[in-house]
Amino acid sequence: MNTWDVIVIGAGAAGLMCAITAGQRGRRVLVLESANKPGKKILMSGGGRCNFTNLYVEPDNFLSDNLHFCKSALSRYTQWDFIELVRKNDIAYHEKTLGQLFCDGSSKEILAMLLSEAEQAGVTLQTRCEVEQIGFDGSYNLQTSQGEMTAESLVVATGGLSVPTLGGSDYGYRLAKQFGHQLVPLRAALVPFTFSDGFKLLSEKLSGVSVPARITAGNQSFLENILFTHRGLSGPAVLQISSYWCEGRSVQVDLLPSTHCLDYLTQQKAEQPKILLRTVLSQLLPRKLVLELEALWWPEQAEKPLAELSGQLLKDIAKNLNDWDLKPSGTEGYRTAEVTLGGVDTCDVSSKTMESQKQSGLYFVGEVLDITGHLGGFNFQWAWASGFVAGQVV
Ligand SMILES: Cc1cc2nc3c(=O)[nH]c(=O)nc-3n(C[C@H](O)[C@H](O)[C@H](O)COP(=O)(O)OP(=O)(O)OC[C@H]3O[C@@H](n4cnc5c(N)ncnc54)[C@H](O)[C@@H]3O)c2cc1C
Repeated sequence: MNTWDVIVIGAGAAGLMCAITAGQRGRRVLVLESANKPGKKILMSGGGRCNFTNLYVEPDNFLSDNLHFCKSALSRYTQWDFIELVRKNDIAYHEKTLGQLFCDGSSKEILAMLLSEAEQAGVTLQTRCEVEQIGFDGSYNLQTSQGEMTAESLVVATGGLSVPTLGGSDYGYRLAKQFGHQLVPLRAALVPFTFSDGFKLLSEKLSGVSVPARITAGNQSFLENILFTHRGLSGPAVLQISSYWCEGRSVQVDLLPSTHCLDYLTQQKAEQPKILLRTVLSQLLPRKLVLELEALWWPEQAEKPLAELSGQLLKDIAKNLNDWDLKPSGTEGYRTAEVTLGGVDTCDVSSKTMESQKQSGLYFVGEVLDITGHLGGFNFQWAWASGFVAGQVV
């Protein structure tokens, strides 16, 4: 029998951080990974540069049924702790925007750092290992594709459903249910919107065009870029709002968030009565976008100067520019979603240690829990923080 103090299932961000922390305490730690190599999401993250944390981490940057749950771990392992680790390992990084920290070089450096820390901490990693069955008789007994193993503590670090090709799996949720945990309903998040109405045709034509915009769902807004795609809308503002969007509802897009469009168009009409609306708007928005909006909103009046456009038409156009109501038909789903919203309900998990309150010695860390960060390095910060606090006690 293969006996360990701690077995961690999943060699992603949270599992590796937990293993390193426990290993540094002298615990004998085994990490089991079903894929052929560890940390696939780390490698693909941030467009290959890993947005590993954010300078401004606040509990408000997270979604959960229990908004208080993340506070303890985030305050005990902060972004500064991870930045210190990155610095110690001589990894060059920069702030891209809004506090988001990326490697100057490649995500590979973050993964290499974690694997080297794990090795130094004496952690054993087994890849291509499928867990087939788990039993508990005072310790955890695992039947796996690589034989039988046992441990005092079992850490579930299997992540969420997003991007199956990078290891997205439902295993952690099934395990949670086996030990009596509830799940908060799962949904793809940080994901592009798709459309089936006339907007789909428009977005196809504008595919590749990106503009800063404010996008709103309910009482949540984000001001970042939106990107038109062949299937609908993407870009950071859209990914952010997708976490708050409810199926069947509209979102509102303000294409000129720093301009009161009605005041602006009225003023332009008074000052430059002979100018075309498309010329005025092309000073503020990409011309390609203006031409498509023209074909949609004022095709008959396209060649008329501003002076000849009625006050009502300008009002309607201004309303659309500042408050365009769009109804996504859905999202691209787990195939491209960066994260899974929902997960293991935190009501039965200790926020200080991540230990199950239903099953002693069982821990949940990272994305498998019902904690979802905004875009911008917050999901990794949650993985590092939750992995760390569990690693201190397993
Ligand atoms: C394309 C992409 C880009 C992203 N970019 C960023 C970014 O720049 N910044 C950011 O903060 N977040 C980013 N995220 C989100 C971030 O990657 C995740 O939130 C984070 O990796 C979650 O860490 P985790 O350890 O909980 O899960 P994961 O990193 O998903 O790790 C889970 C591991 O468990 C393994 N596993 C699953 N089931 C089993 C099983 N039954 N047995 C054994 N092993 C199993 C998986 O193969 C995987 O290796 C991105 C996500 C994606 C998909």
